[in-house]
Amino acid sequence: MPFEREMEKLIQIMHSNGSLKTGKVEEAIRKIPRHLFVPEKYHSYAYIDEPLPVSHGQTISQPSVVARMTELLDVKEGQKILEVGAGSGWQAAILGHLVGGKGKVYSLDRIKWLVENARKNIKKTEIKNVEVIQRDGTLGLPGKIFDRIIVTAAAPDIPKPLKDHLKTNGKMVIPVGRFTQKMILLKKKKSGFVKKEEGFYRFVPLIGKYGFSD
Ligand code: SAH
Repeated sequence: MPFEREMEKLIQIMHSNGSLKTGKVEEAIRKIPRHLFVPEKYHSYAYIDEPLPVSHGQTISQPSVVARMTELLDVKEGQKILEVGAGSGWQAAILGHLVGGKGKVYSLDRIKWLVENARKNIKKTEIKNVEVIQRDGTLGLPGKIFDRIIVTAAAPDIPKPLKDHLKTNGKMVIPVGRFTQKMILLKKKKSGFVKKEEGFYRFVPLIGKYGFSD
C-alpha cells in the first residue's frame, strides 16, 4: 500500500487525540485508504489530519472527525445505516466495511457530480454494500428505517424526517448549529429521544427542506 508510513502516523495522532477508541474503527480506517477519496492533486495530503476540498465547494471531513463520529455511532455488523452528505464517499465506505456483507449503507448527496464521484471512489475499494443516491437528505429515505443515521453537514436543527426514520434503540450523530456546531448523539428509546452533546465542530451547511436555505 502506498502511504503506509503516513497512515501509521495518522493512526497514532487519532489515538493520542482520543478520536480513535476501538480496534474495529481503526481497522475500517486502515481498510479504506483515504487517498482514494481525495482529488489526485491532494494525494500527498491525504494522511494529514485536515479536511480537504473535493469539488463544488464541498470537503472530505478531517480524519479525526470521521473517527470520532464513527465511534459515537457505535456501528454493529448487519446494521442498516443512512448517511446524509456523501461528499467523497469515504465515510460511507468506512461504514460499509463496519456493517459487513449482511449490512447496508445508503448515502445521500444533493449534488449530482459528488454522487457520481463518490460511487467512482467507492468502486476503487472492495466495498459493495453502499448505495449512493442523489436526494435532499433532510427528507430521509421514505419507506425505510435505519439502525443508525449520520449527518455529515451542519444542520439548523435535527430534521424531523430523520427522527422518524430511526428505529427504536437506534442512534443518530448530527452536527447542529450555524457557524460552529455541537455534535449531537441522539438515541431513540421507547420512551422518547435522549440527546447528548459531544463537543464543537465546523461543517459545511446542510441545505434542503429541513436544512438551511440555499
Ligand atoms: N461524508 C463526506 C463529507 C461530507 S461534506 C465524506 O466522507 O467525504 C457534506 C456533504 O453534504 C456535501 O457533499 C454536500 O453536498 C452534502 N449536503 C448538503 N446538504 C445536503 C442535503 N440536504 N442532502 C444531501 N446532502 C447534502
